[in-house]
This record gives sequence, structure tokens and C-alpha cells, in this order.
Amino acid sequence: MIPRRWLTLRQAWNLLRYLCSGWQPILPYRPLYLSVSSVSRCNLRCEFCHVHSPKVSPYPYQHQPCPDVTFSMFRAFLRRFPEALAVSIIGSGEPTLNPDFFRMVEYAHSRNLLTITSTNGTLGPAVMERLADSRLDRLEISLNGYDEDSFHRFTGLDGSLFPRIRRNAERIIARKRVHHRPMDVVLTCVFDRTTYREAGHFVALADELGADRVAIQQFLPIPPVPGFSAAERCLFAADPAVTRFFSETDWARFRVRVELPRLITEKKRFCKSVFTTLRIDGNGQVGGCAGMLLNNAGNGSFLDQEVWNNAYFQRMRGLFLAGRFPEACCRDCVSTSG
Ligand code: SF4
Ligand code: SF4
Repeated sequence: MIPRRWLTLRQAWNLLRYLCSGWQPILPYRPLYLSVSSVSRCNLRCEFCHVHSPKVSPYPYQHQPCPDVTFSMFRAFLRRFPEALAVSIIGSGEPTLNPDFFRMVEYAHSRNLLTITSTNGTLGPAVMERLADSRLDRLEISLNGYDEDSFHRFTGLDGSLFPRIRRNAERIIARKRVHHRPMDVVLTCVFDRTTYREAGHFVALADELGADRVAIQQFLPIPPVPGFSAAERCLFAADPAVTRFFSETDWARFRVRVELPRLITEKKRFCKSVFTTLRIDGNGQVGGCAGMLLNNAGNGSFLDQEVWNNAYFQRMRGLFLAGRFPEACCRDCVSTSG
């Protein structure tokens, strides 16, 4: 994920150091990607959500509720890591609920960072218009269905929410076109073993709506929770029906660019996220997980002098490099698979 614009000297130098370095617990370069858990709150309760699902009982590494990230914390975080290339302003929750969200996007853009977010697309038209007019480089809208029935089956939420999300996606796409915004609007949907055969309907809808991209996303497993294990829900490369479906479907017939899910394989590798990404929550605590957004508590503060190579990061990197998994969910995370 490298910005399409010119890099600053600091960014270019850091990228070069990253490209020339080997993988090791203590890294000579600084984080390439910043990630901000701007809120812990969400106005929805999707069944598959690893934080807000009513079906998920607490599990050991679950993200814990935090205050919102304030603008001053956001600014201090970006200033500490001016070499980074991109920032994701995300949850665990609905990021536009943070009252400083749009200020953060502007500020990140002013610092030459590729700026990314993901919304559930349910808030009012004023928020949608501001998203369309913003300096975001990539805006993901979680459609999570292609009609009321599929939305209800995929999320467990009331299907009558779907027309509003669809209308909001249409509104954003139309407005950013009129204003010639160089933003990629990406419609996303999480698919699992029981639903992946419906992915074509979802892509067809994204095509009809005129999205720039459409992302078929892999289910994120939560091993200790019944009904959420990888074996029950995830898409495996070893499953001939799954590989046949994704390789034989003619995705090129759609105008929209299709991002296929990464299938889980037996060939394990280490997770690059802890070697590239520094994430903060509203308490200023850090983590390196950009997949499950593991709980950050106790990992250290972004204000600590050596935070990027602190004991937490050294432990995580050391375990991955030794072929071990720091948490049960890492074994079947797409970040360690393939
Ligand atoms: S919209 Fe996103 S953060 Fe909110 S409950 Fe659904 S999956 Fe979780
Ligand atoms: S492998 Fe583990 S640390 Fe890496 S992204 Fe996945 S859940 Fe997070």
C-alpha cells in the first residue's frame, strides 16, 4: 500500500530502509502504516463482529472498550511518526461517530498520508456528503449483502436497514463523481463457508452502483467462540468447491475491480502486520495487529521512547519468526496464511 503521490524525503528514506532490511524482532526502520482505533462504539451489532456481536462471549484477546481518540492524540501520533505512508482511521466500531473524524482526515491528508476508513454506511445524509467531499483516498462501505434478505442473513440485523445503506453508497458515489474526488469507493461484504456462492450477486450490485472496487472479505475467526471457528466459517484453499468457485467465476465481466478474498492455506508464514503497522486505541496504547484488532492494553504507549521496538513488538515478531502464533486467532488469520 504505497501512496500514488510523491513521497516526502522522510517517507522515501524509511520505505527504502524497510525494503533493504531483513525480518528481525528489532527493526531499523519506523512504522510504514499507522492505524487508529478512533472509537470503540458502534450503532450496529453485526453477528459476525468480533467486538460488537451479541453472539460473541468475551474472549481473552478481545478489544476492550476505550475512550474515543481525541484530535490532539491523533495529531501527536502522526507527528511522532512522520515517515509513515498511510493511516487507517477505523474502529473497532463506526469511525464517523468520533466527533473529530473529519478533522483527522484533513490533518492526515495535510501530512501526505494515504488516508483510509471503513464505514457501515448507516448514518444520515450529512455524514455521507462529508465523506464524499473528504480527502480520503480509500473509503470502504460495508454493504454486507446485496438485498434485504441477504443483509439480514449475513449480519443478523434487520433487513430494512439495507435500502438505507445502499442509498447512502449511491449518494457517495454520485457526489464524488460530480466533484471529481480522487477517492476509491470500495463496497465490502464478509462471506463465509455458507454464503460465498452468493458473492456474484454482491459484485453485480457493486457494478450497478458504479463503485470503483468491490471487496469480497474473508470471515475473521474467533477460535474459542462456538460457531466462530475457522473450520466452521472460513474459506480454505484446500476446499475444492471454494477454489473452483473463485477461479471459475468470470469476474472480468464486471466493470468494477474485484478484490477476491485471501483463502486460508496450510502453508503458514509470519504476520507482516507487526513488522509494518503501529496501531493506537483511545488510551494511547499500541498494538501491531491490523486483522483482528487484538486488545492493546498493556502493550505500551505511543509516547514511549522506543515504542516501535518495545517488549511487546519484540515478543510478537520473535514468536512469528520462530513459527509460533501469539494468539489462537493468528493461526487461521489471512495475514499468516498463503
Ligand atoms: S458495523 Fe462493523 S464495527 Fe459495527 S458491529 Fe458491524 S462489523 Fe462491528
Ligand atoms: S496474524 Fe494475529 S497479529 Fe497478525 S493480523 Fe492476524 S490476528 Fe492480528
